[in-house]
Amino acid sequence: MSDKYETIIGVEIHVELGTKTKLFCGCSTDFGAEANTQTCPVCLAMPGALPVLNKKALEFAIKAGLAMNCHINEHSIFERKNYFYPDLPKGYQISQLRQPLSTNGYVEIDVNGNTKRIGIRRIHLEDDAAKLVHAGEGEIDETVSSAVDFNRGGVPLIEIVSEPDMRSTEEMRAYCETVKSILEYIEVSDCDMEKGQMRIEANISVRRKDDHSIWTDRSEIKNLNSIRYAMRAVEYEIERHRKALEEGKTLSMETRLFDVNRNTTRAMRGKEEAHDYRYFPEPDLVPIEPSREWVNELLHNLPELPHARRKRFIDEYGLPLHDATLLTTDKKFANYFEECVKAYDKPKVVSNWILNELMALMSNAKQTIDDCKITPEHFAGMMKLIDNGTISGKIAKTVFEDMFNTGKTAESIVKEKGLVQITDENEIIKVVEQVIAENPGPVQDYKNGGTKAIGFLVGQVMKATKGKANPQLVNKILTEKLQS
Ligand SMILES: [Zn+2]
Repeated sequence: MSDKYETIIGVEIHVELGTKTKLFCGCSTDFGAEANTQTCPVCLAMPGALPVLNKKALEFAIKAGLAMNCHINEHSIFERKNYFYPDLPKGYQISQLRQPLSTNGYVEIDVNGNTKRIGIRRIHLEDDAAKLVHAGEGEIDETVSSAVDFNRGGVPLIEIVSEPDMRSTEEMRAYCETVKSILEYIEVSDCDMEKGQMRIEANISVRRKDDHSIWTDRSEIKNLNSIRYAMRAVEYEIERHRKALEEGKTLSMETRLFDVNRNTTRAMRGKEEAHDYRYFPEPDLVPIEPSREWVNELLHNLPELPHARRKRFIDEYGLPLHDATLLTTDKKFANYFEECVKAYDKPKVVSNWILNELMALMSNAKQTIDDCKITPEHFAGMMKLIDNGTISGKIAKTVFEDMFNTGKTAESIVKEKGLVQITDENEIIKVVEQVIAENPGPVQDYKNGGTKAIGFLVGQVMKATKGKANPQLVNKILTEKLQS
């Protein structure tokens, strides 16, 4: 469609904080426990049970605010957000509306080589609702019964609300990935989206570039539990808004759900306003007033963040931007790279192996760097075998795969499988002569000036030696023999 429209995207991200206990009680937050085994009178909302704020959760929320350049407010309060739903035993969620913990921050994203600042309006603390488990397949309205698991009820969340600063789905993706990466770096959440530890909501509207008074009312898409789904949902929604403008229609403000199977969104309800929730101050909790000393201490103890680390990888290791970006998005991955460089001081070579070979193996095996059996020392050991000519770069790839699967050293794999490179000229000459004798056609082609034939003949020699012949020697000897 034409380019006369502009898309406006804002994102709300809910993140479960990685504390051991819930926000207002001592119940465990461990994921995957038997339903309703991690509950107490507070998170089940028994009459008279009183909440007490988890200091670790507050610390994590403050760190998140600091890492995203927010102002940590000297005074903020909890409020009750009232609504009725079976996953909410209190009949209200304890959240923050008028005086949130932190405000006015930003993160920097990179899209197509350009850096852009995305504003963070606010980050506030709240407790999670319980989890509804619907029996049977399909949609909620097709289900026969629903059960409630209160283990999740009361788990600490932060909600990170961006300014509507994104103009494309690419920017939205970069924003979500950047926020995720920062939170993982400061170790306040694992942000495992499959476990629901990070949930995305996107607000979309579209306006005419030349006339901002022509625009669609925003729709909010809820429950996006992967960045990929969020992209698909928003792409669909953008088209829906553009089409409406094109047809001269206005859209009403509403909340929509993404249907993964049909790849569309559908209306869930009219968008609610804050007053629909009858917010009022939570009388059972004191205001949050973190001391300046504590906030400063947390600020000074923040670790190196992804952006800074990426810059250092470029400056210190001479890596291209592309490598530095891929290596630093995941903190553990970046740590692994640095350990490997400590053991083998050729950063670009290490980066190539990690980004090409290791990433492919990990993705095929659906593994993370945590499960990687290749220690940095083993990694360096293999590189040294290549450097001293024991194995060829080609053989090294199969050795590397074996190391990945078994956790053995390159040396022991090479010994066990007899993969030592053949550098004995006489041995190679024998094979070359045999290949020349067996392939009169390609040999004739070569003598007639066919350049492709040499590649074929080298391939035959490598095949006959099971890839173990030194390729440079094979090339040299083959050329000599063919020209003699
Ligand atoms: Zn509890």
